[in-house]
Amino acid sequence: MTGSPEYRPMIGLEIHVALATRSKMFCGCSAEFGAPPNTNVCPVCLGLPGSLPAINARALELGIMCARAVGGQVQARMHFERKNYHYPDLPKGYQISQYAVPLAIGGEVVLDDVEDAERRVRIRRVHLEEDAGKSTHSAETGHTLLDFNRCGVPLAEIVTEPDMRSPGEARAFLEELRALLRVAGVSEVRMEAGELRCDVNFNLVRSAAGDGLEGTEISEVKNLNSFRSVQRALEYEVSRHREAIRGGEPLVHETRHWDEERGITYAARSKEEAHDYRYFPEPDLPPISVDPDLAQYLAAQVPELPRARRRRFRNEFDLGSYDARALVSEAELADFFEEAVAEGADPKDAANWILGEVRGHLNATGDSLADLPVTPRMLAALLSLVAAGEISGTMAKDVWSEAVETGRDPVSSVEESGLRQISDEETLDALVEEVIEENPDAAEEFTAGKEKALGFLVGQVMKKTRGQANPQLANERLRKALRNGSDHR
Ligand SMILES: [Zn+2]
Repeated sequence: MTGSPEYRPMIGLEIHVALATRSKMFCGCSAEFGAPPNTNVCPVCLGLPGSLPAINARALELGIMCARAVGGQVQARMHFERKNYHYPDLPKGYQISQYAVPLAIGGEVVLDDVEDAERRVRIRRVHLEEDAGKSTHSAETGHTLLDFNRCGVPLAEIVTEPDMRSPGEARAFLEELRALLRVAGVSEVRMEAGELRCDVNFNLVRSAAGDGLEGTEISEVKNLNSFRSVQRALEYEVSRHREAIRGGEPLVHETRHWDEERGITYAARSKEEAHDYRYFPEPDLPPISVDPDLAQYLAAQVPELPRARRRRFRNEFDLGSYDARALVSEAELADFFEEAVAEGADPKDAANWILGEVRGHLNATGDSLADLPVTPRMLAALLSLVAAGEISGTMAKDVWSEAVETGRDPVSSVEESGLRQISDEETLDALVEEVIEENPDAAEEFTAGKEKALGFLVGQVMKKTRGQANPQLANERLRKALRNGSDHR
């Protein structure tokens, strides 16, 4: 082959995740999202002179669990550093972060099902830091409003190696990471609350002489807060860089922002880029030694991770990869599923029901599964009635909706309301005889070859039972009775 090899995307991500603590990283203020502006603040998170920070032990624990969930090596000794910069939403004039010695080094996240092949994304490091406040610019008044509630909220920053090769793969990585973090209980990762924000590093590369790579200058797109924006911003960058190569114009290493409405990235003002953070060890906090027993104990708290669980669901319960992925991506649904199966539900029926009825209800109402008064045992009992043909799928949905609202056991509802389907052949045969006797014309038409007449007769059976007959069975019994008609009379 001659000519130059093709350029391909090279993508690395830096992800900030809000840790699920009740209070902030270095003070006792609530870390809750959505409180009225500037109500969760104190001298420490406002950086008032004389105030001293103290480390939130839970934030450290969740950070360790986060590091373990991505396979990182937690460092035995670490310390915090000051990252100095000036911005209106940072009242202290510095952010407490980690730099020289982070919480953890190394790790990897494996993506399966990406273009039918396994892909490994290496993790470079995980470190802890505090969040800054939030600025809201009002075009109407020309003012910028500042809310310091977010100042000091604990974050884990996860930095990957530039191992992703397409915008879709970057998105798949983020989805897997979100599932991992939720399962590990590190963060709820509510995107609408800004609990996961992402910076992307991007360029196009191709093999060069020796083992090296050559490529375009790196673009850093900052502060993307949805997976869709990450993918779209990267797709935009792919075409921008390709264009630059075609046109022979050089790109510069720069920071860019994403404009969601226009669907483009644009260069940050060069001033914003001139970083000199002058990191130095935080003098108000002692270095931290992580007790190996504690690290081990916390690692053991991280439950089965999504990839292993998906594999187990496929092997143990014979689920398809779509169902396995959908269940496992919501750990509470996966737990509900496993309990229902343990209570005797057929795995496929249970998966269909949970991904259809249960997930549909949760999405429509915004409730979590814990808010619902239904139990896996109720579901298992209901599904076995359906499987035995004792009630129809429609009836099951009706009593289930009632159970979801009221907590009433669906099986008792079936018993009490007499909704149980009549699937008993003897009972049905007696009704079938009655119907044939009462409708001799239709019976004759059917025996003379008019298929349509059967539908009418089934309808009569349904009418007699006020809809409770199993229609399929009524159909079968009618057919049988009419074929043997002459023998009966
Ligand atoms: Zn505070």
